[in-house]
Amino acid sequence: MVIYCTRCWKDNPAGSEVCPRCGSKLEADNRTYIAKLIQALSHPEPMTVERAAWILGELKASEAIIPIVHLLKISRDMGAQEKAVEALGKIGDSSAVDALASNSAHWPVRVRVQVAESLGKIGGPKAEKVLRTMLNDSSSQVHETTSKALKTLVR
Ligand SMILES: [Zn+2]
Repeated sequence: MVIYCTRCWKDNPAGSEVCPRCGSKLEADNRTYIAKLIQALSHPEPMTVERAAWILGELKASEAIIPIVHLLKISRDMGAQEKAVEALGKIGDSSAVDALASNSAHWPVRVRVQVAESLGKIGGPKAEKVLRTMLNDSSSQVHETTSKALKTLVR
């Protein structure tokens, strides 16, 4: 697994100790690494927030669920919302279903499509119930992704 530099976001091979691009010491300890990524979720630069959310999803960091749900509630940035929803799907914990279900109708189409995909990945009866309501979405793109997600749903 690659390790990302939490200062300049260069991807470095596993086991690297120092980032060759910016000279920062890389986190050898996974808990400190995840804590730094969670901190980056409240960074003022949207790209940093998106990257941190994406990496946390790749790491399937369940300790990041609550901070990511919080980000989803406060963020007005579509890219960050999309990456947050994607990360919750990758982490795959049903505790994120409520956050994905609430307000989802107010999100832009791109984010709603991601909600359908993530709910499909999370699976279970609760996610299925939300997906069924999403079949009524006004966007055909959301409808299509929802139908697909329902077909491949993990039960
Ligand atoms: Zn670096």
